[in-house]
Amino acid sequence: MIQEFDIAVVGGGAAGLMAAVAAAQECNKRHIHAKIAVLEANTRVGKKLLATGNGRCNLTNMGISVSHYHGDTKACVPLFEQYSPQNIIYIFASLGLLCKEQDEGRVYPYNAQASAVLDIFRFQLKSLCVETICDFAVNMVQKTDFGFKISSASDTVLAKRLIFASGGMAYPQLGSNGSGFQILTTLGHSCTKLFPALIQVKTEPRRAKPLKGARSAASATLIANGKPVKTVDGEVQFTENGLSGICIFELSRLVGELGTNNKIEINLDLMPEYTEQQIFGMLKHIGETLNSLPADELLNGYLNKLVGREIVRQALPHLPEFACNLKSGELAAVARMIKNFRFAVTGTMTWKDAQITAGGVPLDEVDEDMQSRCCPGLYLAGELLNIDGDCGGFNLHWAWSTGIASGCAAAKSLIEK
Ligand SMILES: Cc1cc2nc3c(=O)[nH]c(=O)nc-3n(C[C@H](O)[C@H](O)[C@H](O)COP(=O)(O)OP(=O)(O)OC[C@H]3O[C@@H](n4cnc5c(N)ncnc54)[C@H](O)[C@@H]3O)c2cc1C
Repeated sequence: MIQEFDIAVVGGGAAGLMAAVAAAQECNKRHIHAKIAVLEANTRVGKKLLATGNGRCNLTNMGISVSHYHGDTKACVPLFEQYSPQNIIYIFASLGLLCKEQDEGRVYPYNAQASAVLDIFRFQLKSLCVETICDFAVNMVQKTDFGFKISSASDTVLAKRLIFASGGMAYPQLGSNGSGFQILTTLGHSCTKLFPALIQVKTEPRRAKPLKGARSAASATLIANGKPVKTVDGEVQFTENGLSGICIFELSRLVGELGTNNKIEINLDLMPEYTEQQIFGMLKHIGETLNSLPADELLNGYLNKLVGREIVRQALPHLPEFACNLKSGELAAVARMIKNFRFAVTGTMTWKDAQITAGGVPLDEVDEDMQSRCCPGLYLAGELLNIDGDCGGFNLHWAWSTGIASGCAAAKSLIEK
């Protein structure tokens, strides 16, 4: 028997779960009995949520502003006015989740457990009588007189309203494989270029490999065709394939955007608080005072040991035994390399390593309620739209905001009808 619903939500991720709860609450508030279902391809809802924020779920940021977003950012201004971080924290508090602000405005559940966020959604879905249908990988949607016919390989449901929140392409091992984009095309939508973002950057292997496992504070600058484009400070992690860490994640979007046709490099300034001249002066002092210090240990007291040795090795192909034998020109070359530790970028890692998708359905294809302009009765929410945020809770904030907006609007449209 084909089940009929008033509202079906495709995707039980952050945006879809919030949309379903918001829709059910809106219907309750207006004393309307509506049948609502979440259709999820995975065996369980919210798998990705559990992986967010290293298992702690950085669910919003006190510094939400369009400057932290990329894509069709203009269109999200009214949404962020309506759904400020304070509002999102208040909404979570009303659902039973206490939150706490940490460093750099990042907000987490008070108990620092992502599972708490999923638990409150599971509880809400149950108490609001929202049906959760798992193992339902939607592969086709047809517009009908009833509303929508939504099919998987083995099942079909009908719904008067449809909220699409199937995510992007990032981290497909947790369910979001981009299938939503193809389905939405059949309903009249388009999709911009898609590329992985908030991801490790691959560099020329000879440079990266010897440093594998090391971490170092740095000011990282992306340079395209010789011109500096963006600088972010933070901790750089050196990996087998290249560079990682939050500051590199922030630069990775540009790598995807510019593509490999451009010459892209990342420059690390490993002592951003000091000028090259100051560093030279300090190294000269070491050379003059520490007679028995081996030359390759020159930077042991300054930088991560592995990084320091590699800098000395690369700056000085002919290394004397002791630091005191280094000439002024050689010390100047080391100081220069500390400020200009450069990596040729060869691309980013793959979708399965990416935290988010850059690109998606253009925002001008939905109205301010997230309703499709191409297909009335269809609402879009979350990562599948052409907006992506920086690291720090900005992406989940987008998922909650669009989830609430679409859920409330879909419910209201039933009532208005
Ligand atoms: C490891 C990791 C850590 C992250 N940490 C943070 C963080 O701390 N803070 C932050 O702000 N952001 C973080 N992000 C990004 C954030 O998780 C996403 O932006 C957010 O989850 C997007 O929500 P969404 O609901 O749009 O998509 P998703 O969370 O991807 O949910 C989409 C759901 O739809 C389902 N689905 C897909 N296709 C179909 C289909 N055809 N039929 C039925 N169901 C389907 C999927 O299985 C999935 O459950 C992180 C991402 C990753 C990968």
